[in-house]
Formats: sequence, structure tokens, C-alpha cells
Amino acid sequence: MRAWAVVENDAPLQEIELPTPDPTGTQVLLETTYCGVCHSDIHILEGRYDLGGGKVMNLKDRGLTLPLAMGHEVVGRVVKLGPQATGVKLGDIRIVYPWVGCGTCAACTSEEDNMCLVPKSIGVFQNGGYATHVLAPHPRHLIDPGSLNPAVAATYACSGITVYSAIKKVMPQPPDEPIVLIGAGGLGLNAIAVLKALKHRSIVVVDISAEKRAAAERAGATTTVDGTGEGVHRRIIAACGAQPIAIIDLVNGTATARFAFDALRKGGKLVQVGLFGGELSLPLPLMAIRALTIQGSYVGNPKELRELVRLAQQGDLQPLPVTTVPQNQANDALMRLRDGKVTGRLVLKAEAA
Ligand SMILES: [Zn+2]
Ligand SMILES: [Zn+2]
Repeated sequence: MRAWAVVENDAPLQEIELPTPDPTGTQVLLETTYCGVCHSDIHILEGRYDLGGGKVMNLKDRGLTLPLAMGHEVVGRVVKLGPQATGVKLGDIRIVYPWVGCGTCAACTSEEDNMCLVPKSIGVFQNGGYATHVLAPHPRHLIDPGSLNPAVAATYACSGITVYSAIKKVMPQPPDEPIVLIGAGGLGLNAIAVLKALKHRSIVVVDISAEKRAAAERAGATTTVDGTGEGVHRRIIAACGAQPIAIIDLVNGTATARFAFDALRKGGKLVQVGLFGGELSLPLPLMAIRALTIQGSYVGNPKELRELVRLAQQGDLQPLPVTTVPQNQANDALMRLRDGKVTGRLVLKAEAA
């Protein structure tokens, strides 16, 4: 198969030939048709995450090997089945759930694959959609997009379930209880769309950019808050009419985590999603006295992906604006994203599409 792969960290993707996988057991081979370009691909290309305080997490130490075809927002066409693969047939178009694990532990067998202690995520620890073919370990990781635009459906595998799973962690809430979203980039706009599809009415969005706040308002935010400078937590509380019970931090950097923590109501929950980098120092007695919860949220599970696709199929979910780019221009697409030149999502379109 042809791949546009990371051969060396911090260097451009290279177009290389890799062996086309031959599905065994329950595996299913798909020909890639669409693949979203995600911001975390830039971290994978760089090979590291900033953990704050001068510390970094090196992805090679986490088991990532090169060369690697990245790409974890994949839609493809089934082209070959392993002997034990059932439930799909040749020619089927499917979204590939990428956050797979070992396949045998309690997490994996209860469809909490993203909680597996041995992650084998497609496009991270094994080749993904920046290649002409992609291997899914099991048919249960394949979801029918139905009549959805496949370029949009691809993005549900990461940006979609990431916000959906984070929102589920603060739900249920009465429709008029303010839910605060920090960050009005791609994830933030997606989160607004999901909250609206869930018929939630009060959505407060914080961002440092006036342009992004305006985009959030157009997308359906009830109120927006300027996230720059001092007193952001007071502005959030004012916008909510009281201290908020639920905050989803899609940036999750040192500054946003601080004002989110300071804004929370007694019994409130902060869900941390973004991978911006940084650290938060916690006044421990306040955690107890205010009975706060801080919960991390990483992507989502296959059940959540199916629920999200169902929500989209009902027609209630405003699709994220996507721009398609030929798959062989994957490197350019990645560089445009790195340079902050992308609104919405770039999705690679393969020749097989
Ligand atoms: Zn992603
Ligand atoms: Zn597992």
C-alpha cells in the first residue's frame, strides 16, 4: 500500500510503499476513502507532548514506532475480510473506530477500548488513514455512516467522539443549566453542535479570540466570555449568572485550567480534554471542602461513536465545516493546520473515494 508516513520526527511526511496488511482472524481490511487531519497528528509528527514544568512525554517511549502512517479519522471501503470477520461485506463503507486496544482485556471486551492499558490506536500505534489501506482489528470497530457525508462522518471518530464523550461526563443537566466550554476552535464548535443536538439551551463559551467568539455565537453559543487577562473566572460566573456546575476545558493549558477551577461551583465538575500542555497546582483542602471533581477525558468508546452517528443521522447535528484535500497532499494539509490556517476540518480524500 501507498502511505504518506512519518519516517522521521519533525520532518515532512514521505510517500512510501508499505506492505498491504492481509487480514487474519476477525480483522477487516479497508481501502481508505476519507481521513481527517487532526491536531494531535502534529504532536505525533513532533514525537512529543509538553507536560508543563519543562517536562515532555516522548511518544517513542510510549511504544510509537516509525515509519507510521498517521490518520485516526478514517472512513473506508471493506476490501478483504479475515476468516472470522462477520457482519460486514465487501464494498461496505464504514467509519473506523480507531481507539482500539489489546482486544482481550475487560476494557476491550466491554467496549471501553479507549481505556485499555495497551493502546493500539489506529493512526498512532499502528498505521492509519494516511495510507491507501487500513486494517481494523474487529468488525465491531466499523460503523455504518449511512447517508452521512463521509468526509464529515470521518471526523466523528476523533473530534466528534472527543466532545461527545466529554459532554456525557457532565450530563445529565437541566437544559437551562449553563455548561461552560473553554475554547471555540474546532472542538468547541463541535461541542456547541452536540449540545444543541442534545437540546441543551445554555452554552457559555470562553475564548481569547474575538473572531472565534463570534464564530461560537454564530454556531449557537448563548453567551461568550473573553478569556484574556485577569478575572476570567469572574466573567465566567457573571455570564452564567452563578458559579457553573460543569466546565469542559477543550484547551486545557495552565491559564484555562486555573480560571476553570476558580469558577466552579461547590460540587462542580471540570472535564479536561485539550492537550495544550501545562500544569495545574491544586489547593487540596478546597477540593474536599468544595467537593469538586476534575476528570480527564480522552476520545471516546465505540458505543459513544455509534450514539453520535445516530444523532447525526437524525439530522439534529450541525455538520462541522470540512474542506477536502487530495490524500497525496497530506503533508501540506498538516502544515496548514500547524500554522493555524484552517477553519473547520481538513479531510484527506483518497483516490479510492
Ligand atoms: Zn484526533
Ligand atoms: Zn484491552
